[in-house]
Amino acid sequence: MAQTKYAFFEGQIVPIERAKVSIMTHAFNYGTGCFEGIRAYWNNEEEELYLLKMREHYQRLHRSCHILLISLSYEVDTLCDITLELLRKEGFRQDTYIRPLAYKSAEEISVRLHDLEDGFAIFATPFGKYIESEEGAKVGVSSWRRISDNAIPARAKITGSYINSALIKTDIVMKGFDEAIVLTQDGHISEGSAENLFIVREGKLITSPITEDILEGITRAALMELARNELGIEVVERRIDRSELYVAEEAFFCGTGVQIAAIASIDHRTVGTGEIGPIVRRLRDLYFEIARGKNKKYAPWVTPVYAGARRKKLAAT
Ligand code: PMP
Repeated sequence: MAQTKYAFFEGQIVPIERAKVSIMTHAFNYGTGCFEGIRAYWNNEEEELYLLKMREHYQRLHRSCHILLISLSYEVDTLCDITLELLRKEGFRQDTYIRPLAYKSAEEISVRLHDLEDGFAIFATPFGKYIESEEGAKVGVSSWRRISDNAIPARAKITGSYINSALIKTDIVMKGFDEAIVLTQDGHISEGSAENLFIVREGKLITSPITEDILEGITRAALMELARNELGIEVVERRIDRSELYVAEEAFFCGTGVQIAAIASIDHRTVGTGEIGPIVRRLRDLYFEIARGKNKKYAPWVTPVYAGARRKKLAAT
């Protein structure tokens, strides 16, 4: 975090040292906040930083806030403008992660969601890989189960619910795996600890439906679109049994943090050949090309950070 100099906090961009909350903050005590994770990709040839699917992330943040009764006073367009301003001030020339947070800022001892003051903040930090072995992760199914929609809704990206993700991740890493898959309460495949999951069977891409206590992933939706439209592959959303993981031709995680990570084995069973499979490879190549602003057809998926500012400067001179 050493490279982060600023934050958007209490309505303005301030030095990061000033973006502090009290230990009495409701969200700190009860996990009553929601957040986003957005990536921006550095394109060296163009000397440009591209934000990927920024609007979709802020639309999801609004939905998370709606579920948690957090009033987020900024529209999606304003949130995008604030993010651009913050990034231009930071001036990062490398891959970056942006973390917006909406939370119950009231300093009050009371477990509830209604009638509490809300806060909003954003910070950004340079960020590389989320898991080291993205070309072939060794994965295990966690003994923890995913929290169900009737307990803490997974479709909202709620700070407190990441205790579930943390239990899952630590359980599996301490057992010697790289990453975890988690089951729903009734034993079907939900997703990864903090990423969505796809498997390939008979050449079709299969993923759990949004009713299986998953986060409605933005990368997941993007890859479904690319698989159908660019690779001509059929994509099926249906329940997945645990043992289907063992006989899949390919399997991979996807998400803003993890990007696209091929799975080499699950519960000590090799997936496919154990090498990165052809469908994962093609999707991965296409995804990174788009994310770095190198694919003009998908230019609407990315927002350049510096070009707008440069244009403004030129117009002013
Ligand atoms: N599931 C969970 C639990 C996550 O935390 C994430 C990361 N945000 C994802 C899936 C992937 O979602 P997205 O592609 O929108 O980043």
